[in-house]
Amino acid sequence: MSDRLSQNHRLKTGSDEKMIRISGIIEESIVDGPSLRFVVFTQGCVHNCKGCHNPETHSLEGGYLMGVSEIVKAYKNSGAAGITISGGEPFLQGEALAFLGEEIHKLGGNVITYTGYTHMELSKLQMNTPSVKKLLQETDLLVDGPFILDERTVDRPFIGSANQKIISLSKKGDSLLHLIRA
Ligand code: SF4
Repeated sequence: MSDRLSQNHRLKTGSDEKMIRISGIIEESIVDGPSLRFVVFTQGCVHNCKGCHNPETHSLEGGYLMGVSEIVKAYKNSGAAGITISGGEPFLQGEALAFLGEEIHKLGGNVITYTGYTHMELSKLQMNTPSVKKLLQETDLLVDGPFILDERTVDRPFIGSANQKIISLSKKGDSLLHLIRA
């Protein structure tokens, strides 16, 4: 775990604009969390889960760079209730994504973050990786854990395998969890 992706982005752009390496964006989704969601698929993953549905997101050099301000502009136009950050592995770009989360919160939206790390792993990592701490602070609902093919499930909404957990990290997260369980 490191901040290498976000550091690279700053070097490449030479500006203060926070850049995120993304695989793609879906401006209106109803399958990546409750209500209408704006989804950012980040590029770059280190987990290599067997049976992953998004192998094209694994390369750390693939995808394309997009500025946070451009993403926020598209989010505002979408009418979504919040943003879902998926992957790839979002916590490889924690600093820039935390900045994005902060902007979404300023607009009254909520933030769901998917990760291949468990919440426990992230809780330990955040002690010496500030970018992990920042993204956790800007996440309302965390969907944690790697995709495990042998535990694949279609019975629980918004998760792919039974080991994954949906964890509230804020009051907004509590409301989202309530919507999921209603
Ligand atoms: S964490 Fe997600 S993107 Fe990464 S390999 Fe696992 S399922 Fe695929």
